[in-house]
Amino acid sequence: MLTDPALRSWIDIAPGHPFPLQNLPFGVFEREATAGAPGTGPRLGVAIGSYVLDLYAVQQQGFFDGVGLLAGLPPKVLRRRSLNRFIGLGRPVWRAVRQRLSELLRHDNPELRDHEDAVRACLLRQTDVQLLQPIKPRNYTDFYSSIEHATNVGSMFRDPANALLPNWRHLPVAYHGRASSIVVSGTPICRPQGQRKAPDAEAPTFGPSQQLDFELEVGFVVGKGTTLGSPVPIAEAEDHIFGVLLFNDWSARDLQSWEYAPLGPFLGKNFGSSVSPWVVTMDALEPFRVPGPAQLPTPLPYLQVPGPHHFDLQLEVALLPAGATEEVVISQTNFRHLYWSMAQQLAHHASNGCNLEVGDLYASGTISGPTPDSLGSMLELAWRGTRPLPLPDGSERSFLLDGDTVIMRGYGELSNGVRIGFGEVRGMVLAGL
Ligand code: MN
Repeated sequence: MLTDPALRSWIDIAPGHPFPLQNLPFGVFEREATAGAPGTGPRLGVAIGSYVLDLYAVQQQGFFDGVGLLAGLPPKVLRRRSLNRFIGLGRPVWRAVRQRLSELLRHDNPELRDHEDAVRACLLRQTDVQLLQPIKPRNYTDFYSSIEHATNVGSMFRDPANALLPNWRHLPVAYHGRASSIVVSGTPICRPQGQRKAPDAEAPTFGPSQQLDFELEVGFVVGKGTTLGSPVPIAEAEDHIFGVLLFNDWSARDLQSWEYAPLGPFLGKNFGSSVSPWVVTMDALEPFRVPGPAQLPTPLPYLQVPGPHHFDLQLEVALLPAGATEEVVISQTNFRHLYWSMAQQLAHHASNGCNLEVGDLYASGTISGPTPDSLGSMLELAWRGTRPLPLPDGSERSFLLDGDTVIMRGYGELSNGVRIGFGEVRGMVLAGL
């Protein structure tokens, strides 16, 4: 098992680091030319400790030669600007790569370890490279699958007694989002302008959003497409998932609440969404499988699946307030709280015959937990501005200010404390135009 907690690498990896030998998440990077060295152009890579393993270099050094499926891996696929083409090669190839890298990096394997030149060619410090957006999704869908979040929002905007709309417990509610404005961690987000109307105002005005928010979400990347008209039986849904990443679905609440009726989210959402640079494979998440919450009423048969399909992944949101030097954790929750599983989301998405494409990104919706310190958005943490969140620097927040940086992190923990992590997704709010 590649996730055996006892596995060790010859690379020095600090305890609790998100990228131990058991993880091996995929990403894309580029090293710019410096005075001493030429640039690499885009390359596929795998995170190991604080390094990136350059998959193209690994292949050029001969470490994939004669290794089953990897012998025929087209070199071009490893020099692309996204993982999409690699993902399209299929699960047997992703598995073979992780299997081979796990062997090469194991503490007692000298093949790479003892060859200084090869190590220098293949291993780069993450701080020496630029991590690029790992996937280019042609389609992005945002679900609304946290019962705590949906209940909180329904209570605030409608009626606490009937917070969930009648469909909510019967299907994973979602909307089609905007793929073009998805950006990688580190990309600043400009405060959007738009129309907003306070409930007591006579007419709307146009200007910078006054209620800019984040949404803590986990997204999954489609690894196997379908043809139009072919639903996916729920028992096969996870076969269509490549891996998982962190997702910040930035939201302008004032724009959203004015525009959303009757067709749903639009400009309050599509000005930017941030993804983490590493995609953690479903294989690496296998140890964290847990049963989800009880679903009542029982969903219709096409959404029923036996066995555990939720994942025990600890999540947190930190805020680095504008001008501050220390970040503060403002929310801690868990992916397992989600009501609808990724398998149910995918099976529902395909149930009408809608075709899934490799690289599509499907996000969970804001993940809130049951306690006040586990809420996944400012909207909920400050309860629509009615109880602003006090910060250590003496300031408080109802929504995000220009210069604020939001950082999301997540991990699953193995029995011996080894963490299979996502790294982080971060973004700073800039004043709008
Ligand atoms: Mn969302």
